[in-house]
Amino acid sequence: MALVNENYLKLPGSYLFSEIARRVSQFKEENPQADIIRMGIGDVTRPLVPAVIEAMHKAVDEMGRPETFRGYGPEQGYEFLAQKIIENDFLPRGVKLDVDEVFISDGAKTDTANFQELFGLDNIVAVTDPVYPVYVDSNVMAGRTGAFNAKGQFDKLVYLPCTEENGLKPELPNTKVDLIYLCYPNNPTGMTLTKDELQKWVDYARENRAIILFDAAYEAFITEDNVPHSIFELEGAKEVAVEFRSFSKNAAFTGTRCAYTVVPKELVVYDSQGQSHSVNRLWLRRQTTKFNGVSYPVQVAAAAVYSEQGKKQIKESIDYYMANAKIIREGLQEAGFKVYGGVNSPYIWMQTPDKMPSWDFFDKLMKKAHVVGTPGAGFGVSGEGYFRLTAFNTKENTVEAIERIKAKFRS
Ligand SMILES: *Cc1c(COP(=O)(O)O)cnc(C)c1O
Repeated sequence: MALVNENYLKLPGSYLFSEIARRVSQFKEENPQADIIRMGIGDVTRPLVPAVIEAMHKAVDEMGRPETFRGYGPEQGYEFLAQKIIENDFLPRGVKLDVDEVFISDGAKTDTANFQELFGLDNIVAVTDPVYPVYVDSNVMAGRTGAFNAKGQFDKLVYLPCTEENGLKPELPNTKVDLIYLCYPNNPTGMTLTKDELQKWVDYARENRAIILFDAAYEAFITEDNVPHSIFELEGAKEVAVEFRSFSKNAAFTGTRCAYTVVPKELVVYDSQGQSHSVNRLWLRRQTTKFNGVSYPVQVAAAAVYSEQGKKQIKESIDYYMANAKIIREGLQEAGFKVYGGVNSPYIWMQTPDKMPSWDFFDKLMKKAHVVGTPGAGFGVSGEGYFRLTAFNTKENTVEAIERIKAKFRS
């Protein structure tokens, strides 16, 4: 008799986006004329840039000629891409890395979900609340949590609330934790930490021999100077952190798939005898066993992100989204809403009027303004009373949506 991994049974149904889709389609059925603007999108809307497409075309042609055909590549990615990553994303910020500290993969979602495999089941895991659900669910599946409780949280997991009181910045845990997931710029809140604020986490991890799993998928959207682009800009971070990056949001690779994870050679994890083990070696072992690399044309396409043309074209896309973010942020402020994010991130996290439950506000916004967003409660208990809007849309739609919100909700 085949037995199920009972950890999977602890997971409540993935309710957020299916429930949104259900409510939108019901509303459309009842109001076929309504021109709905979707501001809940967590996916880019602008296409791959010409420099990337051109490089990918060439690489596809190479695959069709015997003298340039490539079969299996290195599981951890081609050196030509790892070199470009180091030279462009890290060296200019004073971070030196070796090529074998960069692991190219098919997604930061995959890597943030898989990385927990290297760690024992007794580790105490801390996540921010609200949170990108992948960190939580992957640890539930592995058996690192208890049951889903009446509060709507998993037992044994340590939640770090991000609330109005702490300015949506998590405080250091007051109980000992071993693994800490941090995502900055943050999805869903759009908030960032300054260098000093992030340094406190690095120091905590060093003192407690904890490991920080740092998700920097939105790094390219940072506009302010005192916001670190990489956790490795901070003193001692290589001893305690892994960093996840992705070409998804900066370069529109959400459907093309390419990302990378930096695992410094200084980073160690301990066995029950107190012996240290290289996390880099363990991740290499894991990837060479369970992963066969990203396709050659996609890695060539990702390398083109760092070409002169590629950089210029990608910057245009990011500027386009960030102009939308500014329209949303300032428009909502004018309408009297309290808003966070949207300065170093394509996400705007708004307080609902009078702390209205976020699903009620979802309905109200859809019915009155024909604008769809994402209820904060879908990202965690502390997301209740908040609502996420994204800049991934056309400028025209963004302007129109904000005009409607102002007209219907101005306080
Ligand atoms: C979009 C996103 C990613 C990127 O995932 P990919 O698998 O690389 O597309 C990672 N983390 C967060 C928080 C995200 O929102």
